[in-house]
Amino acid sequence: MISPLILIIEDEKPVRNFLGASLKSQHYKVLYGENGSEGISLAASHNPDLILLDLGLPDIDGIDVIMRIREFSTAPILVLSARGEEQEKVEALDLGADDYLGKPFGTPELLARIRAGIRRKHLAKSNGDGNSPVFTLSTLTVDVEKHLVMIEGREIHVTPTEFKLLSVMVRHPGKVLTHTFLLKEVWGSISASETQSLRVYMANLRRKLEIDPANPRFFRTEVGVGYRIIDE
Ligand code: CA
Repeated sequence: MISPLILIIEDEKPVRNFLGASLKSQHYKVLYGENGSEGISLAASHNPDLILLDLGLPDIDGIDVIMRIREFSTAPILVLSARGEEQEKVEALDLGADDYLGKPFGTPELLARIRAGIRRKHLAKSNGDGNSPVFTLSTLTVDVEKHLVMIEGREIHVTPTEFKLLSVMVRHPGKVLTHTFLLKEVWGSISASETQSLRVYMANLRRKLEIDPANPRFFRTEVGVGYRIIDE
């Protein structure tokens, strides 16, 4: 297998070096962007398999870097956020970042997220970039065309709204989906009452599809951010 290429966009040299060394030890190929504009042009010229992006950059705001890269690239973007950047983190996810890691983070966590990001990219490809009607995540199968939900081949009855929420989530396996994104996709609007509904429908899906709803295997809560459907 060809080593995946990771683009690191980070202005702080020690962090950049740490990230680079961790990735090279796992046989990833690495490219460095020292600021936002260099990062954007490297993303365009080298088509990396995944992008690690620090939100606090000296020239261009990290949020703008995401928007500019999303104009031409669907490469998974893993945001590195410092403490106190909670709002920016949510905004980054809303604007097209796939995942985030809060600084400081350990190497195992970093590598796990990178593996997940790259796996997701391949999964998206094999699922025809989200247009395939059938999604399979371990024991869970969702047939979007036939409105069919199965666990280990056993059909599970879900309501139309539960189905809508589930189909949005299975289209983005492993990705952090913000409250705003899910509300817009499922209800078409964002209001306090719908935020409450989202919580209720998520609880329903867990009750119907999880073996142990208190320790969800598929539907993870990202506190203060949203939800993530686990793809392993
Ligand atoms: Ca920085």
